[in-house]
Amino acid sequence: MQSDPLAALAGRRVGAHLPLAGGMVKAVDRALAIGATCLQVFADNPSAWRRRAAPPADLPAFRACLVEDDVLPLAVHGPYLLNLAASDETIWDRTVEALAAELRMASVYGAAYLNVHIGSHRGHGTEIGVGRIAEAVRRVLADVPVLASDPPPVPAGFRPVPCGPLLVLENSAGGGDGLGGTVEELAAIQEAIGDAGADTTRVAFCLDTAHAWGAGYEISRPEEAHRLLAALDAALGPGRIVMVHLNDSKAALGSHVDRHEHIGAGAIGAAGLRAMLLHPSLSAVPFYLETPGMDEGFDAVNMERVRTILRGDPLPELPPARARRVPRPAGRPATRAAAKPREGAARPRRGRSRAGAD
Ligand SMILES: [Zn+2]
Ligand SMILES: [Zn+2]
Repeated sequence: MQSDPLAALAGRRVGAHLPLAGGMVKAVDRALAIGATCLQVFADNPSAWRRRAAPPADLPAFRACLVEDDVLPLAVHGPYLLNLAASDETIWDRTVEALAAELRMASVYGAAYLNVHIGSHRGHGTEIGVGRIAEAVRRVLADVPVLASDPPPVPAGFRPVPCGPLLVLENSAGGGDGLGGTVEELAAIQEAIGDAGADTTRVAFCLDTAHAWGAGYEISRPEEAHRLLAALDAALGPGRIVMVHLNDSKAALGSHVDRHEHIGAGAIGAAGLRAMLLHPSLSAVPFYLETPGMDEGFDAVNMERVRTILRGDPLPELPPARARRVPRPAGRPATRAAAKPREGAARPRRGRSRAGAD
């Protein structure tokens, strides 16, 4: 669809969290069809503790297509049940076990980043919660050895990840005793991880724009977006933000509520998101959309809205719900379609009808 997707994105790596339920190689086809230049996926059911023991059968074809089509870097979004900050021993033990398994699988996937939500202290207080996070991270990294060879592929100009997938902690909106909602808390978490004796070069951070908005950062104003990025650099050190979740928000500023909205159609708006996309400190950082309706054609709509914002053009109205379905991309050439078993993709989510990532 895009003759030069990278140029249409002003050289930025922008992609989406896409479902794998239709087949892993199909997800790469879809990324190409919507002009995405990077990809985020679930490696397993995000609402289950149990992690798959073996990789899906079509993983080698998926990995090959990502490299061949330059849809990089790959991020894996971890499961939602984890709570690194839990004081409850059972929850904390299960978190460490599941996260270690997920980190191993992210490595098998060729992911550069394993993104996880930090979790909640559940009333035990920030200090105790931060200590639990640090010890959980130390344990997970100790359980999962550094890769001996074959580091995950990253685009030219991106910082290499020679230790295997980075464990990437995501800022929260700060609701429900969630930790990591502020720059100061993220810095305290990073410091505690170092103090616990963990290898901090294997840990990094993700900035979710909708969460920052919910936490009270008024990034709808470009100068405030720049100020937040400068504050993160100052508190964490330069280059510690290795990925962005580019989402608009349905929630009010400082509400501590996390509700993602289509790009430029929410409370943050085009100017704030544009400031993030074009900030020099994020020029070698992937932006992953986690906007609504990814499997209803809104993946294409929101990628086009990103390109529109980058061109500086006004955004059109969102298409009506009925028109949201856009054609699926045509299949691959026969040589590549042959290596494409359909089974083995991530199972569709059960329970809450949330199709995308947070
Ligand atoms: Zn979210
Ligand atoms: Zn996110």
